[in-house]
Amino acid sequence: MLKSTMADRPLTVRAILEHGARIHPRSEVVTSAGDAVVRRATYAEVAGRAARLANALRRLGIGPGDRVATFAWNNQEHLEAYLAVPSMGAVLHTLNIRLAAEQLAFIAKHAEDRIVIVDASLIPILATFIADVPGIEHVIVVGEGDAAPLGREVLRYEALLAAEEPRFDWPEIDERQAAAMCYTSGTTGDPKGVVYGHRSTWLHSMAVTSGAIFALSERDRVLPVVPMFHANAWGLPYAAWMVGAGLTFPDRFCQAAALAKFVDEARPTVGAAVPTVWNDMLGLAEAPDIGSLRLIVCGGSAVPRSLIDRFHERFGVRIVQAWGMTETSPLGSVALAPIDLSEDESMAYRATQGRPAPGVELRIVDDDGNELPWDGEHTGEIEVRGPWVTASYHTREGEADDGEKFHDGWLRTGDVGAVCDRGYIRISDRAKDVIKSGGEWISSVELENALMAHDGIREAAVIGVPDERWGERPLACVVRADGDAGAAATPEALGAWLAERVAKWQVPERWAFVDAVPRTSVGKFDKKVIRAQHAAGELDVVEVTR
Ligand code: ADP
Repeated sequence: MLKSTMADRPLTVRAILEHGARIHPRSEVVTSAGDAVVRRATYAEVAGRAARLANALRRLGIGPGDRVATFAWNNQEHLEAYLAVPSMGAVLHTLNIRLAAEQLAFIAKHAEDRIVIVDASLIPILATFIADVPGIEHVIVVGEGDAAPLGREVLRYEALLAAEEPRFDWPEIDERQAAAMCYTSGTTGDPKGVVYGHRSTWLHSMAVTSGAIFALSERDRVLPVVPMFHANAWGLPYAAWMVGAGLTFPDRFCQAAALAKFVDEARPTVGAAVPTVWNDMLGLAEAPDIGSLRLIVCGGSAVPRSLIDRFHERFGVRIVQAWGMTETSPLGSVALAPIDLSEDESMAYRATQGRPAPGVELRIVDDDGNELPWDGEHTGEIEVRGPWVTASYHTREGEADDGEKFHDGWLRTGDVGAVCDRGYIRISDRAKDVIKSGGEWISSVELENALMAHDGIREAAVIGVPDERWGERPLACVVRADGDAGAAATPEALGAWLAERVAKWQVPERWAFVDAVPRTSVGKFDKKVIRAQHAAGELDVVEVTR
């Protein structure tokens, strides 16, 4: 075998940090302080502060492999931790601030966190579980705020940084070493730990910046609304830093109205969030000026075609759907349109979950694990593998690995769908959400998309409920729009609307009109909760005869 002559330089977060700081020192990091007020810093300043943070953490005893947790919003200080912690050889653990106290305590213990960096505004939440995690030696508070609820001594972020030098002798790092960890948000089961490597992070960042994905460059300003605790804000902070794109962080001001103001002030070109965030923006009484956005990356749950259409019509802004999981770093696929089709024809592709990213291998398999053809018809579980797809979950000594989630080295995604001959994936459901009626599958995603295209509907989530005759039938849980359009959205009208768009036997006869669809910790519709509400008889269900 002829060996390559190329140098074997490690692909690391440190390399990303140093490149961005050296080549793009003037690029900007903007953080919202609410009400159109922003804080600004240059990459050079942020890199200096990251070095100070690394010095401070080392002084506190943090060494290679130690876990440093963050409990924070999307802001400059969180970015500093993103850069400093992995680059010093330690492991960044982003805790999901919206989980229940018991889950957080379990996760922080399981990850063996030694330090937590917390935003002052989140102290009351940290206080609900920190006493149950004795391994946490230090709490570092970002910003002003009373730390008394924690009932322990804390360190102040700015004071720690002020005492240090803005230089750090970053160590040589093995690219296969852990850089960061993130637990799945547990939409369908208990949270599981995924450990990202330096190499996987570097490769993922490179892919995200590439023309095949979002084509990021220093001309861009990226707005990750998706939390930095949700799969590394989809990898955008590292990807942006790699190419010197500006970063604009909404901090805790991520409700639609505040976000719209921030967009107006910070003028981002690329925004990223789950569909509910953008859907909320459509509902604003005053139309926001979000014209600076050349691209909105949307994913985390199925993106209704109507959302893509409305953003185009109202704001002239392009929504691109992406699919991924915490387990896939998270980018798995992206729905850029084929170039040989008209705008109209390409919409059918843009409303899918897209094509696998370069670097991600994907297949669909039937219940017996046999691979199915890519013909747009055959439907089965989606499996993926690749250099930024996890091949196991984080376990502590004595714990069994969750082997069921893997199949011959492929990750079983738990998503069910078909792939067309051009490689576009269409997810019909999560395996756990699949509705089986009279032996046939009904796609909840398809029903939801069709419902949300109706003028009188703001939100729709469909679950399967037990039915004597059919085994299971769909129940549509919907939020009506205000005004006449909403009032006209009766079960009969909606049934007729659906009958024109899906097979008649799939049209739900059970309807629940609610004020809001429950959401998960990362803003997805929470079907676990809807099912529980239904089982407990808490939903007011209207039943129409078919
Ligand atoms: P959780 O499983 O707790 O929601 P993740 O954020 O890792 O945590 O979720 C990954 C899952 O989100 C995928 O397996 C898939 O079911 C869903 N998902 C992500 N993007 C999309 C998309 N574009 N369309 C449909 N489902 C999506």
